[in-house]
Amino acid sequence: MLGCPLKWTLQYAAHLRDAEILSLPDMNRLIGTVLHHVIHQLFTESLRWTPEEGSVRTIELFDEWIVQMGAPLLEPRNRLLKERTREQLRRTMRMLFATLRDCSLSVDQTEVEVEKAWIAGHKVRGRLDITGTTASGAPMVLDFKWATFSKKYRERLEKLSVQLSLYQWLLAKDPSQELPIGYFMLRTGEFMVSAHPDIPERYHVPGGFSLEDAMRAIESLYVSRMNALNTGEVTATGVLLGEQPVSGVPVDPPCHFCSYQTLCGLNREVSV
Ligand code: SF4
Repeated sequence: MLGCPLKWTLQYAAHLRDAEILSLPDMNRLIGTVLHHVIHQLFTESLRWTPEEGSVRTIELFDEWIVQMGAPLLEPRNRLLKERTREQLRRTMRMLFATLRDCSLSVDQTEVEVEKAWIAGHKVRGRLDITGTTASGAPMVLDFKWATFSKKYRERLEKLSVQLSLYQWLLAKDPSQELPIGYFMLRTGEFMVSAHPDIPERYHVPGGFSLEDAMRAIESLYVSRMNALNTGEVTATGVLLGEQPVSGVPVDPPCHFCSYQTLCGLNREVSV
């Protein structure tokens, strides 16, 4: 609902769940999905990897998972892309394990499903890429991104990351508890975290909303979206608004992981 009211309406109101067959495969989306499975399996096998062992196992798992769910990557025309991805992963996963050690962060779980009651009887449900614990015992949430550019995510942390704020709220005991939240960029190995005393300053992204302010802004966006829906207005945010913030709250439409791209017209060229 927050990311794209049209996606929410098609999925939960119209129950249109089989649109995958209408979408053309998108390589970035495919690689991102494969990597989430790879990382989940990696940390299921062990929560403690040395940089070298962890990166070697990542590549083995990547090769296994693309056979299972990334068949287009095995086509001869995608050979270079597959090899480039393997090399990027080998390098960045080594960086991930070195960074976790540098920050004294221990990983607890991956793909964690969390649910909490929110406003007006609604629940917030999240699937957290990775949760961990800092040296002082504070819970932490990290999100992995397979994006070419990190600028957008840095800006989210500087202002308001709706996704990470909701994850933080799901993990926090109460809204006054400020927990470290951040992104790890799987293409570049960049690690960006909200300013928190448990994390070395070199990884900090200054700015950002407090959790209480973030939740107030998100609630206001949610209420405005619900009011629009009640008047029959359904917006495809990825098509109409692009990068434009709605109600002052920057939200990423979840287009990369959306099955309705063909229906809403994303990336469709328009002649005028
Ligand atoms: S592709 Fe993007 S804009 Fe289109 S319905 Fe999905 S999330 Fe909304």
